[in-house]
Amino acid sequence: TEAELAAGRRAYELDREHVFHSWSAQKQIKPMTVIRAEGSHVWDGEGRKLLDFSSQLVNTNIGHQHPKVVAAIQEQAGKLCTIAPQYVNDARSEAARLVSELTPGNLDTVFFTNGGADAIEHAVRMARLHTGRYKVLSAYRSYHGGTALAVNVTGDPRRIPNDYGTAGTVHFHAPFLYRSQFHATTEQEECRRALDHLESIIQLEGPSAFAAVVLESIPGTAGIMVPPPGYLAGVRELTRRYGIMFIADEVMAGFGRSGKWFAVEHGGDVVPDLLTFAKGVNSGYVPLGGVAISDEIAATFADTAYPGGLTYSGHPLACAAAVATIGAMREEGMVENAARLGDAVFGPGLAEIAARHQSVGEVRGTGAFWAIELVKNRQTREPLAPYGGSSPEMNTLIAACKDRGLLPFANFNRLHVVPPLNVTGEEARTGLDIIDDVLGIADTFVTG
Ligand code: PLP
Repeated sequence: TEAELAAGRRAYELDREHVFHSWSAQKQIKPMTVIRAEGSHVWDGEGRKLLDFSSQLVNTNIGHQHPKVVAAIQEQAGKLCTIAPQYVNDARSEAARLVSELTPGNLDTVFFTNGGADAIEHAVRMARLHTGRYKVLSAYRSYHGGTALAVNVTGDPRRIPNDYGTAGTVHFHAPFLYRSQFHATTEQEECRRALDHLESIIQLEGPSAFAAVVLESIPGTAGIMVPPPGYLAGVRELTRRYGIMFIADEVMAGFGRSGKWFAVEHGGDVVPDLLTFAKGVNSGYVPLGGVAISDEIAATFADTAYPGGLTYSGHPLACAAAVATIGAMREEGMVENAARLGDAVFGPGLAEIAARHQSVGEVRGTGAFWAIELVKNRQTREPLAPYGGSSPEMNTLIAACKDRGLLPFANFNRLHVVPPLNVTGEEARTGLDIIDDVLGIADTFVTG
């Protein structure tokens, strides 16, 4: 409506005067206004309808304004908006029970946080106190959050301007066959060599020095590199051998994104010691994250106080939203839908797109979690934007997607296909058709 559009214009003016944006040079951005969102669609400041293939920051796994979750938040708000974490609360108890039930193995206790970064902070703190060790291993090409420790264990370029000394963090290369650090030519080789590399770092840094390995079960923002068969089990075996806690970061990959409730499940019966989650736990309708804790680590804090906490740990509105989200995901078979879309639409559709376009170096993914790696040259694999940066070419493609009614998720030289898990087959195909069309432009940037 005209009133919505006018409100959007006013919001834009106020935003540019008063809102400080994440990760941005404040004067160089022209943020898009969203005046409305519903299901898999958002409406921009001009009233244009866009298919949301980003799920925002890969968090609206159930889409926007799911009626069951909106109703649950409203009901909880009418009953009790907030209560301090030391009191028992029914929404929090039930959310913890559900997370314990869904996570693998003996991860039976949950510490709730406000989001993903603080989940990582607390998981590392728990691992350090449990082991009495300090150093932490994490992968290059990873993202674990924007707070001090979380950005320090992060392995993408956002760490670099925040690096005041590594504070015990040691980075390693996780498997990524397309840009192999190990000169591997098969997944099996990549897996074996990546595990040998990790073990040699453990040996060289001091086998009894490490409290934890922090690892995204499937690295998300860094490029959706689905680990080769055997890698997660190999990390589990190594960490056990050296007494290191395995922290699986499922903030992006978890809650159905990969076509299973948690992406570690793709690695067989791998059970980490700590599992961090956020985003999809309640689709971000109210900020929530947390750490699912193994019985062994929980026992460390049975008779010794855990030195950490948050005013909003287990916030009732957030937890009620989580209970309703998990309920809706189960009732509507959303995780199964993500798996089916991956197998029947995204997998084959993106393979066809890769075959048709010289600009596509590789497509990879699972479920509703896919990356398109764009290159200037298929032989040299030169990326269409430098690692850590953007390029005029990528900006052209992002704008072309929006012009055609698609809101993409882009990072460096990649477009990610990460829609809500309950996107319809028809919407999924529409999105792929737009990408197919836009990659016609990308092909004109190919030089070799
Ligand atoms: N871990 C992973 C894998 C993520 O993708 C993110 C956010 O994108 C985070 C942690 C940080 O979560 P938050 O932004 O909620 O602090």
